[in-house]
Amino acid sequence: MDTDERLKVLCFEHHTQMRPAQILLQAGEKSEQVPGYVCEEPGCVVRYSSSRGYVAIAADGSQLAEELTPKVTCPGDNRPMYLAEVRPEQSNYRLWRCPECDRGLTNQELSQASKA
Ligand SMILES: [Zn+2]
Ligand SMILES: [Zn+2]
Repeated sequence: MDTDERLKVLCFEHHTQMRPAQILLQAGEKSEQVPGYVCEEPGCVVRYSSSRGYVAIAADGSQLAEELTPKVTCPGDNRPMYLAEVRPEQSNYRLWRCPECDRGLTNQELSQASKA
């Protein structure tokens, strides 16, 4: 069972909707194909999978530096959240959503939580 295909996942770089696709993830020595999302902007290396969250993968399949990708996890179940909504008129606004429980979290809530 895989409900991933119905999510509206945005690229955190381009804020465009990502396309469902099989993505290749490097896990130590091995690499595995998992269902995920790819950005359709030319040259964009951003990928998302509900198990690993956002990753940036170079053309040769290697994973780029982890610190380049946002790591927002669901406060309820610790799943990597995806970027679901941005607002052009509010450049700081981000709505993150959990692929598991569908919980939403805005940037504002996020910065309050990290201050507490
Ligand atoms: Zn992109
Ligand atoms: Zn959740």
